[in-house]
Order: sequence, then structure tokens, then C-alpha cells
Amino acid sequence: MLVKRLLRGLQSAIMSDKYNVAFVLGGPGAGKGTQCEKIVKEFGYVHLSAGDLLREERAKPGSEFGDMIEEHIKNGTIVPVEITCSLLERAMKNSEKNDFLIDGFPRNQNNLEGWNKQMGEKVNLKFVLFFNCPLEVCTQRCLDRGAAGSGRSDDNMESLKKRFDTYMNATMPIIEHYEALNLVQTIDATRSPEEVFEDVKPLFS
Ligand code: UDP
Ligand code: MG
Repeated sequence: MLVKRLLRGLQSAIMSDKYNVAFVLGGPGAGKGTQCEKIVKEFGYVHLSAGDLLREERAKPGSEFGDMIEEHIKNGTIVPVEITCSLLERAMKNSEKNDFLIDGFPRNQNNLEGWNKQMGEKVNLKFVLFFNCPLEVCTQRCLDRGAAGSGRSDDNMESLKKRFDTYMNATMPIIEHYEALNLVQTIDATRSPEEVFEDVKPLFS
């Protein structure tokens, strides 16, 4: 009896210790950031954009990794997982809340393996939210965003081509990996942010 109770206590302590995570994936311009903002407002999640964390790190004066990060961002290639994962873990540790949207990660096999190794035991992965959007729509959105002054060094045609290439070749297999585990929730992301959010809501309610 006592042993059982102790075990149960231990188990719940372990469970509540874990970070709850939903990964948010989809092509550049699919609307990950926009939908994450809405989820934060309505459901109190913490939004961690891997790309934003990398841009922040890049902007730090004297950052050891600044130049390397900028090279990857411009070329649409993927920063080594040790850097991205450390930025994510630090943000999670510093947060008072326990529910996280991790936006734009994991993007390739290296990300997936590094994450599983560093965070696998510490995380309860709820699902992968996949914003499905055709290339032409995504491209137009990113070009509009660039023209409207996003200030991003990768919202131009040349970088976009490379980002899509990485997305198709490196990120799609990660989505397929999670699909095989039955963890993917696919959302049609071609519609307006409000319409898309109507499909997102039930997943968090
Ligand atoms: N990036 C990366 N690792 C990540 C997330 C982003 O290396 O885990 C880099 C990559 O070069 C990518 C860029 O940051 O092309 C921009 O990512 P972001 O998620 O901001 O782009 P989005 O998909 O939101 O348009
Ligand atoms: Mg984004």
C-alpha cells in the first residue's frame, strides 16, 4: 500500500516536471508565427520561435555564433542543433509556465536527433501542428512580408528558394516521421488567419 502510494507520488512528480510541448511546423510563410500568437492569447501557451531565438542570439553584441547564424539564415540552411536546442532549453527553464509552442523546429534529422537526446526525457510531446500551405501561397506571403518591411534578411526571392528547398528535403521527412507516430495535426493554412484559427482552437480546448 505504502509502496504503491509512494510510487504514484513519484510518478506524478515526474510527470508534472515535464515540459508540455507542441511543435509547430509548416513552410516559410505558412502562418506559424501568426497562429502561435493567437494560441498564446487564447490558451496561455508560451511561444518559442526557434528562428526568433536565433535572430536574437545573432543580434547580441559579441555573440560567438552571430556570423554563423546569419550565414545559415540567409542561405536557408539549418543551424547546428546544439545551438538551437540550448536556446530553446534556456527559454523553457526561464519560463514560469509549463506549456510551450515550439515554432519552426525540429527542421531536419540533426534537429530531431539532438532534441531527442537533450530534451527527450524532459518533455511531454502533445502533438505536431502542421500548417499545410502550397509553395506559391507561401512565397507570395513572404515577399509581401518583406515588402511591408519585415526587415528579415531572408524574405527575398533568392533566400526563399533555398528555404523551400530545405523545407521540402529536410523538414518534410521530419513531419512524416511524426505522422508515422500518429502525432501530426494537419491544418489547411491557405485561408485567412481567422479561418485557420477556427480549426486550431479545438486542438487546444
Ligand atoms: N533556423 C534554424 N533552425 C531552426 C529554426 C530556424 O537554423 O530550428 C534558421 C533557418 O536558417 C531558417 C531561418 O532560421 O531558414 C528562419 O526561420 P524562421 O522559423 O524564422 O522562418 P519561418 O519559417 O517562420 O519563415
Ligand atoms: Mg516564423
